[in-house]
Amino acid sequence: MTPIHHANAILTIDLNAIVNNWLLLKDHMGSGRDCAAVVKADAYGLGATKIAPALYNAGCRVFFVAHLDEGIKIRPLLPKASIFVFNGPQQEDATEFQIYNLFPVINSLYQLEIWSKQASQANIPLPCIVHIDTGMSRLGLPEDEITRLCVEPYRLNGLDLRFLMTHLACSDEPEHPLNKIQLERFKKFYTALAAIGISAPVSFVNSSGLFLGTDYLFDLGRPGIALYGSNPTSMQSNPMKPAITLQGKVLQVRKIDSPWSVGYGASYHAVKPTRLATVSIGYANGYPRGSHTGAYAWIDHKRAPLVGRVSMDLLTFDVTKIKKVQPGMMIELIGTHHTLDQLAQAADTVSHDILTSLGPRCYRVYYGEV
Ligand SMILES: *Cc1c(COP(=O)(O)O)cnc(C)c1O
Repeated sequence: MTPIHHANAILTIDLNAIVNNWLLLKDHMGSGRDCAAVVKADAYGLGATKIAPALYNAGCRVFFVAHLDEGIKIRPLLPKASIFVFNGPQQEDATEFQIYNLFPVINSLYQLEIWSKQASQANIPLPCIVHIDTGMSRLGLPEDEITRLCVEPYRLNGLDLRFLMTHLACSDEPEHPLNKIQLERFKKFYTALAAIGISAPVSFVNSSGLFLGTDYLFDLGRPGIALYGSNPTSMQSNPMKPAITLQGKVLQVRKIDSPWSVGYGASYHAVKPTRLATVSIGYANGYPRGSHTGAYAWIDHKRAPLVGRVSMDLLTFDVTKIKKVQPGMMIELIGTHHTLDQLAQAADTVSHDILTSLGPRCYRVYYGEV
């Protein structure tokens, strides 16, 4: 492994903070309800093989991934956990779901047929979740397929239906009318299925859905991004602990006179003499290239604004007002002073996108390793 003094950018991941966040969300779900952990996309790029076992040790027993391979990777680390795979089975991989003891989310009657065939071959009831679409139009049984299932309930024969689930489209906007509409549609489908004897506990909410009120909670929460420190509430201060810091190394500190430009496209013009720090991290590390006003570094207790375009390997910050900055220093680009959510906002994106972009070019350090 590369020695840490070679690192141009360091991503620290606090496993204790992630565990604390899960405990807080589980507590928020309330008694009689459970809380899963969404660790798809390598736990949002932060390392599923570290994070999932840490959560497992804290008592988490239900995990969600998106791909079969993401499930295969963590399966041996979580002996007694249920691992559900959002994308569900295909003809060519259904057997592997069974071999690896992974439970598919069934998103269509087509997938239901694949999985029930697998179960009848295996001659044992195979677990699954049935995903009902109530407003995403992406995955999940659409209304006509639910109606069909209501008249052909034998389609579920041989399967062990663990949960019924749906997914909110606008949970980060509590006032959005679609939230209520999805809730009502789900209840309608749930009642129709229950009437013919198809029933199971319900998983309804992702991170921000957990904060829409108790009507939305049902039996199992499915938070992802809030575990990793992003604010799941739209208006309140962040109840989650920050779980990552991203630092970059200062390569140069230089003065420029005005008028003078900075970076590609000469998009930034200094209007007065300015001191700049050049930092060795760029979009090839996953720092968002679209960052503009509102992106900062935190140096010596002060904010240094990002100026000029984000390059592949470099960033430039205005450090005119900051005395204590010199080559070799590691400075904070995401952390408690400039948060993941603030950087996401400055890049016109979501925290999910920032985290999953921070690639292997960032040197990783884990705190609270299990
Ligand atoms: C990714 C995902 C989640 C987790 O969403 P967050 O916003 O990260 O909490 C939950 N459910 C489904 C279906 C997802 O795809």
